[in-house]
Amino acid sequence: MSQIFNLYRLQQLDSQLDSALSKLSELELLLQNDRELQESQKKFDQEQERLKALSHSLSKIEYDVKQQNIKIEQSESTLYGGKVKNPKELKDLENEVVSLKKYLTVLEERELEMLIAVEEQVGVTEQTRQQLQEVIQAHEIKKADCLGEIEQLRKEMTNLENEKNILIQGIPEEFLERYQQIRQSKKGIAVTRITDKSCAACGTTLTGGLIQESRSPDKIALCPSCGRILYGG
Ligand SMILES: [Zn+2]
Repeated sequence: MSQIFNLYRLQQLDSQLDSALSKLSELELLLQNDRELQESQKKFDQEQERLKALSHSLSKIEYDVKQQNIKIEQSESTLYGGKVKNPKELKDLENEVVSLKKYLTVLEERELEMLIAVEEQVGVTEQTRQQLQEVIQAHEIKKADCLGEIEQLRKEMTNLENEKNILIQGIPEEFLERYQQIRQSKKGIAVTRITDKSCAACGTTLTGGLIQESRSPDKIALCPSCGRILYGG
């Protein structure tokens, strides 16, 4: 087997491994990204807190209404109980009951407003709870997809590594070193094909002599422009 072909095959495997590795990093990043989930959870927590606060206010106003009714009952029972006979005292009591009832109306209006606010907030909270549920489900599906893809990629990478290890055993040390040096300095691409009498990596037109040289099975021909190993096929 031609040594240059082996280098070309090694380049193919390395390029596939590089792209698998970059895809793997992308997937791992995607897996960690749960911003949407966090935001949805935060929104739900906020609405739930708001509901809690409104419910607390409602309980308070309900208590106030109850207390006001007790006060009215007590004043009315004194007023109509027959124990107080003094007309001035009776008149004062009567005025007190009127005033207590007037304030009760104010309290009851507030109670009604608060009741409506609580009901509305129950609706809003339920809506955000459903939205959160949907986001959680979508996140779980995305996570499962990601994990599946990661597993698949790891298998592919293992196969590529195995093939690479076998291939490397048949390539002379000096060829491998040259390959590694060029790969490191040329953005991962050390070996390139020739297309239309040009270097496929940089596009430079190659001389007939160089193309001839690139077809030699065990002689390294370099692109005069980008310095990559030319594989003439
Ligand atoms: Zn080139």
